[in-house]
Order: sequence, then structure tokens, then C-alpha cells
Amino acid sequence: MARAPQGRDGRRGKRQDGQQGTVRPIRRLGDPVLRTECDPVRTFDAALERLVDDMFATMYEADGAGLAANQIGVSQQIFVYDCADDEGRRHIGHVVNPVLVAEDGEMVVEQEGCLSVPGLNFPTPRHAHAIVEGVDVKGKPVRIEGTGYFARCLQHECYHLRGGVYIDVLSGEARREAMRAIRAAQP
Ligand SMILES: [Zn+2]
Repeated sequence: MARAPQGRDGRRGKRQDGQQGTVRPIRRLGDPVLRTECDPVRTFDAALERLVDDMFATMYEADGAGLAANQIGVSQQIFVYDCADDEGRRHIGHVVNPVLVAEDGEMVVEQEGCLSVPGLNFPTPRHAHAIVEGVDVKGKPVRIEGTGYFARCLQHECYHLRGGVYIDVLSGEARREAMRAIRAAQP
């Protein structure tokens, strides 16, 4: 997911010194891998750790707040995030085989963007609270709870792994406007 357009945490999302990982090309809307439900990870090995490192490097290079594996062409259930919530708390991590176990609270319509639909943001309805459960690269269980913009990020990334793109959840005029803008942005 793109960072909040307001940049409310003031952070630049560039990679940090000592960080491993190779920046990979980000797939754009229209690539079938973004429309394919990702497979569960079954092998927890060094290759998985390298993949997560590459995902972080790619997310930071693109100044993103979250990145799903299929956005770099890998159809596996993994996402990474470095995202502030509405209280300015920064959340950094990764999750393998995530399940969105809760999405509740009020619906909030706020600008949202995606690294696979670069340069565009649209007002998108999301729940104010979300909980994701999964495991880390070692297979150890993790539970991630988010509110505000971070809850938005969790919902956005889980949706990617099911073969969705946030444009799908727009409705009515916002969706028509998005489709027009995406067509206009295509070379
Ligand atoms: Zn996205």
C-alpha cells in the first residue's frame, strides 16, 4: 500500500543502513499475478527469509507502507509493512499465511493508494479496526492488531493475497473515476 498521502508520520520510507534484500520490479495493475489468489507457504527456509528481505527492500525503495508478495510476482501468502496508525505509532513487520480474523469498527472513507497503481489515490471505505493472524518466517505464530491507517493497510494487503486490488472495493462514482484515471495513466 502507498503511504498516507498526508504523510502524517513525517517519515521517509527509505531503506535503512545494513538492511538486506534486493529491490525487485513491482507488478502493475493488469498483470495476471495480481488477480490470482496466492498459495500458502509450506516451506520455511532461507529462501523465504530472502524473499521477505527483498519485499522490504522493494517496499522502501517505492516509499510504500505495505507490500504483498504477488506485487513482485511471487504468488505466495506473504506481506510486509512499515505503517503508522492514526496515533503516530509505527508498525513494522511481516506475516506469512495471514488470515484476516477480524475487520470491524466503523467504516472510514479515506484516501488510499497502491504501489501497483502508482501515483493515484482514491477515497476507499475500510473498517477502522483489523486483526491478522499468521506466522513469521520461522513458522512462529503472530497476531497483528491495527487501527486507523494501519488497519487500512492490513485489509489492503490481505485483499492482495486473495487476488484483489483496492480499486475493486470502490463503489459508484469513485470506481468510475478510478477506472478513467487508470486508463489515462497507461502509456
Ligand atoms: Zn496495494
